Order: sequence, then structure tokens, then C-alpha cells
Amino acid sequence: MKTTHRLFGLLPLLVGAVIAAAAGHALTGYGVPLTLTIAAGLGIFSSVTNVMDRLLQNATAVTHQCTTCDFRVQLTNCGAVDNRRWQEIAANHPHHV
Ligand SMILES: [Zn+2]
Repeated sequence: MKTTHRLFGLLPLLVGAVIAAAAGHALTGYGVPLTLTIAAGLGIFSSVTNVMDRLLQNATAVTHQCTTCDFRVQLTNCGAVDNRRWQEIAANHPHHV
């Protein structure tokens, strides 16, 4: 895996941690108990990380879709040979859904 891909993969974790820390810091001003602040922070971290990860995957993915049915393949980080092979599979798969 390339270094840029590793750094790109860490971006959702970093953004999630920053937003969760900011929300946790904001909650301490309202006298929220520490356990609830931690629970809220973990929930925010999990949600933001998951959404950011999905958005980044969708932004970098290549999708091949059958023209007659709903069959589709979404590829990330694949080479030209695999990309071409999956394009042919999507265009001519045996069982149209
Ligand atoms: Zn099909």
C-alpha cells in the first residue's frame, strides 16, 4: 500500500477524533457527567469516521454496472488488468438479476 493511501485512510480517524474532542469539550461546559461525555464522544467519533470512510471510498472507487439489470461492481485500489476484467464481467455476467 502506498504511503498516500495510508495517509488517506487515516484522514477519517483524524477528523472523527477532532470533531469528537470538540463536542466533548463543548459538553463539559454544561456540566455533563464524564461518562456521558465519553459515550457521546465515542458515538460521534464512530459516526464521523464511518461516514468519512464511506465518502472517501465512493470518491475513489470505480463502478462497473450491467446495462440490463442492477448488477454492479465497485472497485477500489485495483490495477488496470483487474479493472478491465471486472468491466467485462459486469458487461457479460451469466445471471442477470
Ligand atoms: Zn445484468
